[in-house]
Amino acid sequence: MHDPTHKFLFGAFSFVLGAAVGSFLNVCIYRWPVDLSINRPRRSFCPNCKQAIPWHQNLPLISWLALRGSCANCGAKISFRYLAVELVTALLFLAIWEMFPWQMAIAYWIFVSFLIIGTFIDFEHFIIPDRVTIGGTIAGIASSMMVPALMGTNTRLAAGVRSFLAAALGYVILWIVLEAGKIAFGRKRIRFDAPTSFKWTKRDDDADFVVGTEQSLWSDYFARERDRLLLTCDEVGIDHHTYENVTLDFRYDRVTAEGHMMMLDDVTQIAGVTRELVIPREAMGRGDLKFLAAIGAFLGWRAVLFSLFAGSLLGSVIGLITLVVGKPVWSAKLPFGPYLAFGAVTWMFFGGFFLRWYGALLSP
Ligand SMILES: [Zn+2]
Repeated sequence: MHDPTHKFLFGAFSFVLGAAVGSFLNVCIYRWPVDLSINRPRRSFCPNCKQAIPWHQNLPLISWLALRGSCANCGAKISFRYLAVELVTALLFLAIWEMFPWQMAIAYWIFVSFLIIGTFIDFEHFIIPDRVTIGGTIAGIASSMMVPALMGTNTRLAAGVRSFLAAALGYVILWIVLEAGKIAFGRKRIRFDAPTSFKWTKRDDDADFVVGTEQSLWSDYFARERDRLLLTCDEVGIDHHTYENVTLDFRYDRVTAEGHMMMLDDVTQIAGVTRELVIPREAMGRGDLKFLAAIGAFLGWRAVLFSLFAGSLLGSVIGLITLVVGKPVWSAKLPFGPYLAFGAVTWMFFGGFFLRWYGALLSP
């Protein structure tokens, strides 16, 4: 590989491969949260007009640019996300190829594929599916056993054990942070300046919960069974019952009003006017725990600590910026996965550098 032509060809190949994989990741990002199969329908289709997209309009990077981000059939806008995912995957595949021996590069290609799916699903849906997190953890342990260099060892058994322990560390350490955060800022009180209308509407296993202009899924507010949501109402109708000046005491599956408890399964709609809302606030979701486990399985225990640290730091900085320039958001959902992924990618490329720098700091 000292031959520059070879080097260029392999680099170009990894970029194109990355773009093609990115195109596939887009399919996973679109279909996994809504439980559509990846294989059926086999062809990609336009999210708007459902028209199957012919292969020549489905070339990674090129097609989105050539069609200027719209569907050739109905003209609907195709999200910029499609181009972004393909480009990010292509660039990461190229950078990984340039930096690591080929066995490690292949493992890291698999790793960043999981990271990208998790990141973009979390951005849109505020969840990271088990297929990404548990799937990523299993893939990480398997990759480590196949390429022990990932865990800085040369026996498969040691690599597998290290990978497993790092995954466990990722899960446990974030669980501790989550529980501690729960005690520190367990709930959030929101007072409205004016009486604000709200509506709770049953939808399948879940419900839509709209307060003023904020719309969210009921399940977004509850992370565990004992979480409570309090809603102080001027007036409220629960199906056919009406109440005045009442505080509704919600659990995920039930509501209590004036000592009268109803299972939400038996309720279709709750609507009224509220003055105050107390929500259980979760710093992060359960998916993040398993996501950090997957990061540990691929990158080792140091990366767990680093990703958590770097992710929290970036999260706080961005949180501060949105606090200063953005409109106040009180929603309970906060994607943390993208920050963890940022920390993980930083470690993957620069972890060795950090370690040397830190080592030099300790022993001058
Ligand atoms: Zn279309």
